[in-house]
Amino acid sequence: MLKVVKIRLYPNKVQQQLIHKTFGSCRFVYNQLLDAKIKAYECGDNLSAYELKKRLVPMKNVEGGEFLKEVDSTALQNAVLKIDVAYKNFFRRVKQGGAVGFPKFKSKHNSYQSYQTSTASIKENKLYLPKIGEVKAKFHRGKIIGKIKTVTLSYEAGQYHASINYEDGLKESVGSNNGRKIGIDVGVKAFAYTSDNQKIKHINLKKEIANVIKAQKVLSRRRKGSKNRQKAKSKLAKKHLKLKNKRNDFLHKVTKKLSENQTVAVENLMIKNMSKKAKGSIENPNMRASAKSGLNRSILQQSWGKFFELLEYKLKRNGGQLIKVDPKYTSQKCSCCGHISKENRQSQANFICTKCHTALNADYNASVNILNAVGTTVKAS
Ligand SMILES: [Zn+2]
Repeated sequence: MLKVVKIRLYPNKVQQQLIHKTFGSCRFVYNQLLDAKIKAYECGDNLSAYELKKRLVPMKNVEGGEFLKEVDSTALQNAVLKIDVAYKNFFRRVKQGGAVGFPKFKSKHNSYQSYQTSTASIKENKLYLPKIGEVKAKFHRGKIIGKIKTVTLSYEAGQYHASINYEDGLKESVGSNNGRKIGIDVGVKAFAYTSDNQKIKHINLKKEIANVIKAQKVLSRRRKGSKNRQKAKSKLAKKHLKLKNKRNDFLHKVTKKLSENQTVAVENLMIKNMSKKAKGSIENPNMRASAKSGLNRSILQQSWGKFFELLEYKLKRNGGQLIKVDPKYTSQKCSCCGHISKENRQSQANFICTKCHTALNADYNASVNILNAVGTTVKAS
């Protein structure tokens, strides 16, 4: 079964330079070939991943391209394959009618840099990487036993990490699965509400958000190109990382619990306009609005995306499934008698059916509707 672990790396100064050189080379190759692909496309020609990969060798042999020979060749090949992945994702989004972002060129100013290698190995407490050598690493929770498939090396907020994908040779273990079906309504007031009447509260990120905003302000006051600006920038990246880590811990915990069910039904957010909904999350409009609300909104949106991704993965692992249903009327329909009316929704929190007078928590009512929609307006994921 394929497994992933993420470990912290502690490269020395020379290794750090080599790692950044690899980031730069992968970025160079990616951007050059993405440009080639776009230009070919404009002429009605589609360059396949194979054709793009074939261009790597001439790129290395051209004058001025020698630096590409000094870095991990599998990293460059993987960078080329990423172009194909970016295109496929782009066309999938177009098809689904979601927010469409065309494959972007990579910038060296991105706070997150990475590359993927296909030939790495573990020696004692070190990770051996081609062209870089043995890098000090911090392994935790037992040893990685099995064949390494890929290693993604990343740099963010002054820290180096490696995500190691490996095959442990064991059969996929089916986790606990209680055979139940539930519906969940994700929202703004509560993070999620389940059809078995459980409220999952939002994680409190106030402190982390405040720290990010503070660091952003400090950065905005620093003169462009100054040393202090660099410092402020790396501090901001650290605060962002802290926020992300806390949020991810929360999402892992919640999805682990929910994935014990056999079937989880959710609204298809590709159809639903979540950004509109997320706007309602600005709890305190008087607070220096734009920065805070913008951040809140993007955190919410990213959280939902990550939440569904993790939930689907964990459900599948446990032999269950995630079902996405059409979100039409889930908030206006009475889960008791089926009566649909805007008037049913008396406030954000309360649902009172104008026909049968059933009074319910609005999120709970929606989660039951989502569950009931399975098999009717289903769009299986
Ligand atoms: Zn009713």
